[in-house]
Amino acid sequence: MASLIQSNGAPQAPPPPLAGDEAARLATLARYDILDTPREEAFDRLTRLAKGIFRTCAASITLVDGHRQWFKSRIGFDAQETPRGPALCHATVLQGQPLVVHDAANDPRFADNPLVTGEPHLRFYAGAPLRTHDGHVLGALCIWDTKPQAFDEEQIRILDDLAKVVIDEMELRLLANADALTGALSRRAFRDEAERALHLAARHSHDLSLVAIDLDHFKTINDRFGHASGDLVLQRSVAACLGQLRTSDFIGRLGGEEFAVALPYAGPRAALEVAERLREAIGSETYAFGAAAVRMTASFGVASRLSGTLDVDALLSEADAALYMAKRQGRDRCVAARPVEPPAEARRRVFKGGRILFNRGASTIDCTVRTLSDRGAGVDVSSVAGLPDRFDLAIGADEVTHACRVVRLTDRHVEVEFA
Ligand code: GH3
Ligand code: MG
Ligand code: MG
Repeated sequence: MASLIQSNGAPQAPPPPLAGDEAARLATLARYDILDTPREEAFDRLTRLAKGIFRTCAASITLVDGHRQWFKSRIGFDAQETPRGPALCHATVLQGQPLVVHDAANDPRFADNPLVTGEPHLRFYAGAPLRTHDGHVLGALCIWDTKPQAFDEEQIRILDDLAKVVIDEMELRLLANADALTGALSRRAFRDEAERALHLAARHSHDLSLVAIDLDHFKTINDRFGHASGDLVLQRSVAACLGQLRTSDFIGRLGGEEFAVALPYAGPRAALEVAERLREAIGSETYAFGAAAVRMTASFGVASRLSGTLDVDALLSEADAALYMAKRQGRDRCVAARPVEPPAEARRRVFKGGRILFNRGASTIDCTVRTLSDRGAGVDVSSVAGLPDRFDLAIGADEVTHACRVVRLTDRHVEVEFA
């Protein structure tokens, strides 16, 4: 292991990390979803083993976050996290190779480090990087002591092997929780997360909505272009959705081409707007399958928590029922489980006859305009079946025609924004 930096070798400051690399490293760390999780025996066993094998006073599994090092497992000291700056595990991450410091007090790189000059008066340190299978170093498995210590090549190899076991354990957890094809949460993991989010929303009285998603006529992609093309559509549809979501939102794959998104802090209106953005994002992806240029659409059902609801399965069923309505109404649309009130101050209550025009005026549907503002209207119709996304709304009494975009609809009611 010629590339190891030993305390007796000529010290070389590791190059500062590239900002882009560091962003990718932190994104990878976030994907493992391990920061701030409780202790787990599988990891504690490994720190116990490291401490026992090398007879040091402390060992930890350290994850290096943006501004801190956080310990998934620790033995021999109390702190749950410490600042990243002086952390020796930070140095191990930068180096990307095992770092061994036999006697920090006599090592020019670390002699004036506050962890060496002050508490816990660290003298010996050995850390092996926690490198993911795609090459990002998330932290280190480390041992340290307040007395200097020798550490030979064989011991470095053992520590490095233990670090690989730590990463294997993290990968296993990720696999159990994520769908291998799309990276979305597995059905079980999504349900668990959604349940946690729902309890949190209830405790702090904030909104939470679920969006159920089903790709339209997905089977024809498999049938016409093969299973691999279907897989690509699934992957890109999830990626397109992720591009629209906040970090507190999460997406799960509930079945073949069925997904759900949880939106903490989003009430019925906001959730419908998000669903609309997801619909546009999935619909904007183009696929070149052979000579064919293909676009996908999807249908969406949105359900929001009512105060007191703690039943995540009931909320999912509600979103599913709304999704079923969206399918029945012609697909490629978003349907709310309950009528969504427009903002009270913006709309006047009216009762005016109107006419919906589309197909360049060749198709018309009579309607009743029930709410109206400069920006939109709420319209009753006898059925929304076959209604396109965009149409003109002529309001006879006002002698005006508005170009409209549907923002949401239920069985017999359409909310539009004027385009
Ligand atoms: P609808 O608009 O009514 O939702 O029609 P659909 O064709 O999307 O729905 P249907 O349930 O009939 O078909 C879903 C298909 O998804 C059937 C199944 O073979 C396919 N499927 C499920 N999982 C996967 C997968 O992982 N990869 C691929 N390529 N196809 C999958
Ligand atoms: Mg389906
Ligand atoms: Mg489908």
